[in-house]
Amino acid sequence: YRDREFSHTKTMFERFHALFGLRKFRSNQQEAVDCAIERRYHVFVLMPTGGGKSLCYQLPAVLDDGITFVVSPLRSLILDQTQKLSSLGIPCASLTSDRTPAEVSAIYAQCYSSQSELKLIYVTPEKIGQSDQLNKLFSHLYTKNRLARFVIDEAHCISDWGHDFRPDYVKIGTLRDRYPNVPFTLLTATATPRVQLDMLKQMKIERHLSKLFIQSFNRTNLVYKCFTKGKTDGALARTVQLCLSDQFVGMCGIVYCFSRMECERSAAYLSQSGVTARAYHAGLEDQDRADVQTQWANDDYQVICATIAFGMGIDKPNVRFVIHLSMPKSIEGYYQESGRAGRDGGLAHCYLFYSYQDLVKIKRLIMTEQSPNATRDAQKVRLENLQRVYSYCLNNVDCRRTLLLEYFGEQFLSSQCKKITETRCDNCCNVAQAKLVDFKDLSKQILSLVDHLTRQLKTITLNQLIDILKGSKQKTIQNAGHDKLEQYNIAPDITKIDLERLLSKLILDDYLHQDISINDTYGTANAYIRLGKKTISSEPILISVCTKKENPN
Ligand code: ADP
Ligand code: ZN
Repeated sequence: YRDREFSHTKTMFERFHALFGLRKFRSNQQEAVDCAIERRYHVFVLMPTGGGKSLCYQLPAVLDDGITFVVSPLRSLILDQTQKLSSLGIPCASLTSDRTPAEVSAIYAQCYSSQSELKLIYVTPEKIGQSDQLNKLFSHLYTKNRLARFVIDEAHCISDWGHDFRPDYVKIGTLRDRYPNVPFTLLTATATPRVQLDMLKQMKIERHLSKLFIQSFNRTNLVYKCFTKGKTDGALARTVQLCLSDQFVGMCGIVYCFSRMECERSAAYLSQSGVTARAYHAGLEDQDRADVQTQWANDDYQVICATIAFGMGIDKPNVRFVIHLSMPKSIEGYYQESGRAGRDGGLAHCYLFYSYQDLVKIKRLIMTEQSPNATRDAQKVRLENLQRVYSYCLNNVDCRRTLLLEYFGEQFLSSQCKKITETRCDNCCNVAQAKLVDFKDLSKQILSLVDHLTRQLKTITLNQLIDILKGSKQKTIQNAGHDKLEQYNIAPDITKIDLERLLSKLILDDYLHQDISINDTYGTANAYIRLGKKTISSEPILISVCTKKENPN
């Protein structure tokens, strides 16, 4: 028995080296491959893009008897994979809608033949529900013990909790009922814990029958920092400073902008200052866009000023910095965009400039968007995502990595960030100088203020709360009688940004709750504050009141 196990492992490594031409497994790859070959559990692989998910099913597919079917959402992805496999000499095929009837017949004929050498067949998800021919083939192979495995690529698409739900994926669940003995491999690069559980549920895979291979999303070589920007040009000026500084001289980076106009303006401003920069956005002609991409790949420009349209599928390894001139729209988006820095593993910087104005600007954009996808529910989710980014920016205490990775359900200890001086995040750097202040008493007052107002059935926004606490003289405050409240002017000395920080913390920790409601008549979004589930206990409520260094250097 031991010999057999040994020879299995040996073949596995042999194929890995000889067929795929690779030398060393990356993190979780070997474990996932071993688990798949064992065929006792379903395999669930969660890895960041570029982590090497494909190998986790392609190597088992080569070693397994029979045919592995891969469900993949995009024809371009399928083409990419089948070309790669063919170039390695691995027999594979795809049943996509662009196949001619003759090609389709040939592929089916091969599958039915017991002599067939075919190892992998790629299909799009709609085929699972619609094609009788395909379902007959599955049944045939199943009875012959030649249905090796189902692989579901971009598996998060099955969950409508996710950001990329595709109705065609729902049919995949039926495969489990029909072929209960066939193992599954699920692959995704994006899934929060809620989506992970829902994926398994939708796939009808019991948790105890599956093994999860979840790789850390921590990018150890990236330095994360946030800065308040005040006026926009302040951020731009500092970006120029950065690009010209010793640290970045001759290095390339991406500057993400809010709009086409901001792209053009930033590129012009940078060029004037002696930085080779180009704008890149959806308004460019196809040819121009292709040109920018090639020139960028050739290191002809130091900086690309881009809207988020730039970066999809562009894998430039030596991006040394990614600067956001405006706040991103979600934590997930920020992780992906900033993640384009340092793909080569070398030290790289991610700087984010933010302001309350950004929040308002993006909120307005979400509210006024006219598209079939902009349902009220979808808008609400986007507003919540945005609020989380803002809280992330305001947070000046917790480790950025902890905050980013929390989003992916990963627990990250800030001590890990503090350990390495070079890549420490801004908050971990500041922690030594920062003065932590316990705002428990003020927080108690804030909670009783919110309680009082909501009991009177009054709605209250974050800005109104700040106005009351800081004793604003505005007419609206007086007209509402808010200046008569016990809590009026109890925090005159605390800066607005620190109060915002405190309130955000109270919301994040669930002392307060923020309801985003949308006014259908005016199309505006209001975020009303009410009491959350948690009450103030003996635990301190700490805010770092050290004002941030204005200069990113
Ligand atoms: P993902 O699907 O997770 O985005 P891929 O499977 O496309 O990632 O792999 C990304 C790249 O990494 C590919 O070019 C692949 O050849 C390469 N790769 C995967 N595993 C290894 C490995 N163990 N050693 C070296 N390169 C690898
Ligand atoms: Zn940190």
